[in-house]
Amino acid sequence: MAADYSKLDMIMLKQGEIVLKGQNRRSFENKLISNVRRRLKDFGEFDVYSTQSTVYIEPKTENCDMDGALDAMQHVFGVVGVTRALACEKDRDAIFEAARNYLRDELLSAKSFKVETKRADKTFPMSSIEISKYIGGLLSDEFADIEVDVHDPELTVHVEVREKAAYVHANPLPGAGGMPVGSNGSAVTLLSGGIDSPVSSYMIARRGIHLVPVHFFSFPYTSEQAKQKVLELTEKLTEYCGRLTIEIVPFTHIQEEIRDKCPEEYFTLIMRRFMMRISERIAEMNGCRALVTGENLGQVASQTMEALRVTEECVSLPILRPLIGMDKRDIIEIARKIGTFETSILPYEDCCTVFTPRHPRTKPRIEDVLEVESALDVETLVQEALSSREQVRFNI
Ligand code: ATP
Ligand code: MG
Repeated sequence: MAADYSKLDMIMLKQGEIVLKGQNRRSFENKLISNVRRRLKDFGEFDVYSTQSTVYIEPKTENCDMDGALDAMQHVFGVVGVTRALACEKDRDAIFEAARNYLRDELLSAKSFKVETKRADKTFPMSSIEISKYIGGLLSDEFADIEVDVHDPELTVHVEVREKAAYVHANPLPGAGGMPVGSNGSAVTLLSGGIDSPVSSYMIARRGIHLVPVHFFSFPYTSEQAKQKVLELTEKLTEYCGRLTIEIVPFTHIQEEIRDKCPEEYFTLIMRRFMMRISERIAEMNGCRALVTGENLGQVASQTMEALRVTEECVSLPILRPLIGMDKRDIIEIARKIGTFETSILPYEDCCTVFTPRHPRTKPRIEDVLEVESALDVETLVQEALSSREQVRFNI
């Protein structure tokens, strides 16, 4: 039985920066393909393969959810362009028909065009140039208002003659950019329920980093809903980050100890040092090479240069702060784009707002902090928090 080509379309992904990676290219590409395969599982069975900086996604059956797959592919890092293509019989007139019908709106609205052909099936009787000329000629006869311009066309009609079928496509949608998650190692990201840390997580994941989110919660000072909010944010991030297992660390006892034994103006700073220490331990357990925060210079008292110095003094892993020099409105713009903003502004408290000092130290000195901290049994508190942490997995 002949294939029903009207239903057989495919998706193509144009690879981004990976192509610059020289000899590492193969491993980047393999990472991308395995991320793509995992993301496609919910949408049906597909053949996924790559050649010439393009990943081809062909549905194996006719009941694949192509709209869902197309949307998911726009969130995969390592891809700069996503195109849906129509399949047709490997016959020059069938290719013309497909281009004429599938790209009708584009051909009617553009002023100039050209046809570009790739011929992977070398048994096809025409060369790429012959195919382009043939299809281009028929299209310009059919659409009288559009001119052929091979140098600077407004519209490029792509024709690909592949093993199974021929394909036509144009106008790729933008991809998510960046590098395939996991291609540049792993990092722990400190995830609160605020606006900033989901954005900093997204930005670092986009550089090809697999993330291990860590959240500190202070029940009953912070509510169950505050925790749910962070889980919801984690789930939203999986769209970009792939699989995420968040580590939820109880922080109540640490905060109470700080409240009881340290001067009020140091509460936040000392609490933040605990966050860093615990995050670093979790990083070691997961082979992570850095910590990521949503800190932003000058935004709050604990984010002055002096406070940041005190915060990072107790750990040796690099702390990545992708938002450090950004304006709030730019951060919000990204939060909206990636779909975390609405969840982030839900009005639940964070442990940072529990026992907030009325007059926090904005220019703390490390010697004073160490002195104040000596009232606490740091290692025991760290161990206790680590041993009662909980993990929640999000698969995609
Ligand atoms: P955000 O909007 O991300 O909550 P923020 O501007 O409110 O940030 P802070 O509350 O001072 O700033 O926190 C700075 C950073 O510390 C956060 O971006 C996050 O990376 C981390 N952090 C804060 N609270 C928590 C928490 N409860 N669990 C994990 N990380 C946290
Ligand atoms: Mg916060």
